[in-house]
Amino acid sequence: MSAPTSPADLVILGGGSGGYAAAFRASELGLNVVLIEKDKVGGTCLHRGCIPTKALLHAGEVADLAREGEQFGVKTSLAGIDMDGVNSYKDGVISKLYKGLQGLVKARKITYVEGEGRLTSPTTVEVNGQSYEGKHILLATGSYARSLPGLDIDGTKVITSDHALANSQPMTPPPRTIAEAGTRSRFSAWSLVMTFVPSISRPGSERA
Ligand SMILES: Cc1cc2nc3c(=O)[nH]c(=O)nc-3n(C[C@H](O)[C@H](O)[C@H](O)COP(=O)(O)OP(=O)(O)OC[C@H]3O[C@@H](n4cnc5c(N)ncnc54)[C@H](O)[C@@H]3O)c2cc1C
Repeated sequence: MSAPTSPADLVILGGGSGGYAAAFRASELGLNVVLIEKDKVGGTCLHRGCIPTKALLHAGEVADLAREGEQFGVKTSLAGIDMDGVNSYKDGVISKLYKGLQGLVKARKITYVEGEGRLTSPTTVEVNGQSYEGKHILLATGSYARSLPGLDIDGTKVITSDHALANSQPMTPPPRTIAEAGTRSRFSAWSLVMTFVPSISRPGSERA
């Protein structure tokens, strides 16, 4: 991490796709940037969202192709799905992109600060007891899965996409509800392909 000049032109709280894209563009424009991240640069999309789900979807498509090869005049069969292998493929994709992203942050000479930041004034973010002042502050802290009234996310019966991706194993018994928003169609497609969740029902309309 290079030493921050104070005040920086731009202090960004959150290193997800929103935060790092802004950091790259600002540094391209010659601004001095501080990027603060409490977990891993790349955020939801890279570590718990777009990338892992699409890697799993891809594995599902490969399985489908193997099963349906005859349709194309190709003699194939599906011997089975090795979830450890699928997960290791998924983790490999994430890890490659994560390394690339870390390299880009370094190459763009962005001051990367690890830790949980708190906005302490309109121009200051505090992290681990140190203050980072910025002429401009960008809050890019993302979002998190929330439940519906009367529905407890317990990680077993009711899960979020975070639980699903952390497990990435067929669950027995399968969860009855996935608390999700925005990515339903893509995720449902994955559920079908991976036979991860046989059905997704609304709270209150669950099948026995
Ligand atoms: C399962 C799933 C699949 C998805 N698939 C797609 C897809 O295919 N295509 C698509 O376009 N979008 C997809 N999305 C949505 C996409 O992931 C989000 O739109 C995107 O990640 C939002 O980026 P962001 O930077 O706003 O937030 P995030 O990526 O959530 O980043 C916020 C970052 O801020 C950090 N942070 C939070 N608070 C603090 C703090 N106080 N101090 C320091 N750091 C902090 C967090 O650790 C996090 O890294 C998917 C999401 C999910 C959950």
